[in-house]
This record gives sequence, C-alpha cells and structure tokens, in this order.
Amino acid sequence: MPGYDIRRFVGLSQREADEFTCGICLQIFREPTVVPCCRHTYCRECISRWLANTNTCPNDRRGLIASQLYDPQRLVTNLLAKLHIQCHFYAQGCDAVLELQCLDSHADSCPCNPCRQCPDCGLRMAERMDAAPDYEIPVPPLVSHNCVNSLKRLNETLAEEMSQLKREILKLKTEIKTLKDRRNEFNASDTLSDHISEVLSSARNRICYPEITYCSVSSTQRLKAINKSKEAILTYDSYEQITHFLSQQFNTSSSGDTTGHKWHTIAQSVHCGEALIATENGWIDLRFGQLRIAIFRAAGAL
Ligand SMILES: [Zn+2]
Ligand SMILES: [Zn+2]
Ligand SMILES: [Zn+2]
Ligand SMILES: [Zn+2]
Repeated sequence: MPGYDIRRFVGLSQREADEFTCGICLQIFREPTVVPCCRHTYCRECISRWLANTNTCPNDRRGLIASQLYDPQRLVTNLLAKLHIQCHFYAQGCDAVLELQCLDSHADSCPCNPCRQCPDCGLRMAERMDAAPDYEIPVPPLVSHNCVNSLKRLNETLAEEMSQLKREILKLKTEIKTLKDRRNEFNASDTLSDHISEVLSSARNRICYPEITYCSVSSTQRLKAINKSKEAILTYDSYEQITHFLSQQFNTSSSGDTTGHKWHTIAQSVHCGEALIATENGWIDLRFGQLRIAIFRAAGAL
C-alpha cells in the first residue's frame, strides 16, 4: 500500500509534511525505507514497485537495487509514530484522532469498523470491507459472520451439552438409588443390632433371676447351664458368640455320651422364638429377661 493520505493528519506542520512525505506517492510514509545514494526516504512499497521496473534511484538516477535499501534511523520512525491521524473509519463516522502507532489497534475495535469483532461471539462482523482502503484486516483471517448463524451453532452446542447433562443426571439418579438401598439395608442391620443389645442388656439386668421354663437334665447339668449362661451373657455381645461358647462348654470330652449325640445351644429373643420341640435326650430352656437360652442334646448336626 502507498503512504497514508496526508489530508487525514491533524496538526501536521509544513516542516513535518516536507520531512515525512514520500517522493513517489506524495503521501505520508508507510514503512519508510531509505535509499543509500542520496539518503532519500520512500514508502517500502513505493520504492519496491519503482525498482521492479528500473534499477535507478527516482531522485538522482544513480544505480540502485532492492537489496541496498535500509531502514531509517530510529528517531525518524519515532517521530513518524507520534503524528496524529484520523481513524481509518472517519468516513463511517468515527471522529477519533490517534497517534499513527495506535491507529491499527484502535481500528480493530473501532465501533465504526464494519469488520470489527462481534462483541457477543468474538467473530468478525463482515468478510471484507471496501469503505476504508487503508485498513488491512488483521490476522486471524476473517470468518464470514452472521450473528443468527452463530446463535444457531451456539444453540446446537447447548442442546448437545443439555442431553449430555441429562444422561449424567440419569446416571446419578441410579447411583443415588443404589446408595439409598444400601443405606436402608444398613439401617435395617443397625435396628437388628440395636435389638440384640436391648435383649442382652435386659438379660444382664435379670442375670440373677433366671427362669427355667423347661428342664429334663440332671441338677448338675442344670446348675452348669445356668452358671455358664450367666458367664456368656456377661462376656459376649452377640447370639453367635453365646451359643458357640455354651456348646463348647457342654461338648467337652468328659461329657460325651455313648449315643453320639451332641449338645446344641439356641440363644434368641423370647419374642422371636420359633417353637422347638424338646427332645428327651436332655433339654433345658432358660429365660434371662428377654433372652432365651436353650441347651439340648441332639444328633450330631442340627
Ligand atoms: Zn510512497
Ligand atoms: Zn538517490
Ligand atoms: Zn475509529
Ligand atoms: Zn456475533
């Protein structure tokens, strides 16, 4: 592109105009470039185009090729950068006046720039724009933009996310149900153990007052049953431990009988007692509060 239109500069002195005007396009330098022969400065594009047709300097006609061009002194580019210029989109109504170095960054977000980024979706608003020929659309390259289309795309994305979320909710509901079931099972077992401790504590309260509801064993065995039951009740916290202990106490080698029958024990709440028919091989049924203990002799395994 040739230089910047000199009419767009604000407060430009005659001296600045003389110093920064390109001898080829007669506008203010864009990417100033110096020729070595006479140290004149031109826009990079202006002098490059010139040298594409001829190998002489446009000022003094001395020999010149593109590789001899060099950048101007820093002072020159700094002064140039501070010149004040109207926005690219002054014709579209922008009245901003900026330092030349801020021109392009302003233009990208200028409200009068038809190619600015959409503030809603970040896409560029138009594909190309002829109204401000000085304005080069910056990278990334333009995307044809129409907010309705982008809303449709957004809508599709959201619908996809929504169905994803629905699937996840369904999964979570299933997990919650599993957890609830487990909690109910847990509570049920909790109630059961509460019940056991209630039965055992009533048994301990009544430890000195056993009732004998049935007895067909010898007085020695009856005394043993009562004493060992007391010991078990005071020592153990579950029916299993109590029955295991009592069966062991009665099935010692010295108490074995010739019939091959063994002693068995039942420990349970008096309220859930299933009716067991006493055998005449020996049976004693005891109550300690709410605890029932039955010790009886029967064939090997029950
Ligand atoms: Zn020029
Ligand atoms: Zn020259
Ligand atoms: Zn502007
Ligand atoms: Zn948009």
